[in-house]
Amino acid sequence: MTRLPDPSVRPAGLADQFGRVARDLRVSVTDRCNLRCTYCMPAEGLPWMPRAEMLTDEEMLRIIGLFVRDGVTQVRLTGGEPLLRRSLVDLVAGIAALEPRPKIAMTTNGVGLERVARGLKEAGLDRVNVSLDTIDSQTFTQLTRRDRLADVEAGLKAAADAGLTPVKVNAVAMRGINDDSVADVLAWCLERGYELRFIEQMPLDAQHAWDRSDMITADEIRARLSERWELTPLPAADRGSAPAERFLVDGGPETVGIIASVSAPFCAACDRTRLTADGQVRNCLFSTTETDLRGPLRDGATDEELLGLMRGEMWRKRRGHGIGDPGFVQPDRPMSAIGG
Ligand code: SAM
Repeated sequence: MTRLPDPSVRPAGLADQFGRVARDLRVSVTDRCNLRCTYCMPAEGLPWMPRAEMLTDEEMLRIIGLFVRDGVTQVRLTGGEPLLRRSLVDLVAGIAALEPRPKIAMTTNGVGLERVARGLKEAGLDRVNVSLDTIDSQTFTQLTRRDRLADVEAGLKAAADAGLTPVKVNAVAMRGINDDSVADVLAWCLERGYELRFIEQMPLDAQHAWDRSDMITADEIRARLSERWELTPLPAADRGSAPAERFLVDGGPETVGIIASVSAPFCAACDRTRLTADGQVRNCLFSTTETDLRGPLRDGATDEELLGLMRGEMWRKRRGHGIGDPGFVQPDRPMSAIGG
């Protein structure tokens, strides 16, 4: 039987009923994207959020400020493609001005990063993760439906030059598409000093075509990489709430991470909370419910009222994401509208 929340014993801050406390806020700053990765979005794109429903910078900063006041210490900007939000540099500067100043990171596809990496760094961005699933130009074009590999490479280099370090690369391996070249991606990243992390593909595609039996598992990725390098697991104690299991590559100091979001979920250590571009708080990527902040905020809610809504959403967080449970239902919102 599920324990019902008892507000009288609810601790302050962004806690849930299983002893977890949110410290890491993912903010989706737009649902729009300039790539069309086949595992994320259909070729024609998606019906984008109406502008009027999207939070303005001022609204977003007020909510992020409340999260920070309630214990969030890291803010990660994502999307959609965060670089498509025109005011991104100002938004970063606004977050950097919060007290206490949170760490600021961004997950991006890297297209256009070359132009703004330095400005973002100067505004207060600390780190970037660039998504790159293949270093083969033809495969890249097939997978993203755009011929932009050179832009991503230039973006990565600009990020490193601007000091947005350590520059991390995120890759999803997919059977029959890029799974036979995971070692090439690692070799490429090692050569350039980027820290690579593979992530298992999750049921978050707009097309609802994900099939667990077809997913490349963390074990498979490790086996493929082990054909070329000796991988030594780093102690689990070093992992904390970080989702990646990390390995020294040929004794280190370089490492590679593998995130087994599906085959070995890390929900027990999850410290994340999420804000969508249209002002909804979500307690999990896979949540099928969310709490609206935009309406109350525009209706004049006080900070205390907004905090109450945010805390209530976190208190309802489930023990785990439930992928694999017989009753699992994929969320209606695709990854691009939640914020990956
Ligand atoms: N546009 C930015 C980018 O490409 O990094 C941020 C948003 S994107 C949705 C964030 C990450 O989610 C990317 O690394 C992408 O590969 C990953 N992603 C998208 N759909 C996924 C899925 N079904 N399973 C696992 N990762 C996924």
